[in-house]
Amino acid sequence: MNIALIAHDQKKNDLVQFVTAYQEIFKKHKLFATGTTGLRINEATGLSLTRFKSGPLGGDQEIGARIANNQMDAIFFFRDPLTAQPHEPDVTALVRLCDVYAIPLATNMGSAELLIRGLEMGLLEWRNVVKENGEGNEG
Ligand code: PGA
Repeated sequence: MNIALIAHDQKKNDLVQFVTAYQEIFKKHKLFATGTTGLRINEATGLSLTRFKSGPLGGDQEIGARIANNQMDAIFFFRDPLTAQPHEPDVTALVRLCDVYAIPLATNMGSAELLIRGLEMGLLEWRNVVKENGEGNEG
């Protein structure tokens, strides 16, 4: 599965801890991240990730484009709900695209626990069916 990892600054420690705790699962998948989040995760875990631009510089939009092209299967996006973000429109667009394409999205630690465990249990296998059928590629 292709998994995207993003965390706003105040949530980066949480996501690094989360990925560290579940790295045995994450290492079985192809990981993508926004710039700084990816660097922090790589430094903490040694996991290799494809890093896009930093979120405020377009990284969220790069991940959004992958979603629109049916190339992302799950998103862990630890948002900071208490701090204004300069790239709020990009954040909204990313969340919207997850809804457009029914891509599982965890925006906090609680839902992230469920998503990672569901992933490990094979509950996201339907994504392979979607991709095999070429759904989401039209337009
Ligand atoms: P960053 O971007 O990982 O480069 O900090 C995340 C964001 O703020 O969207």
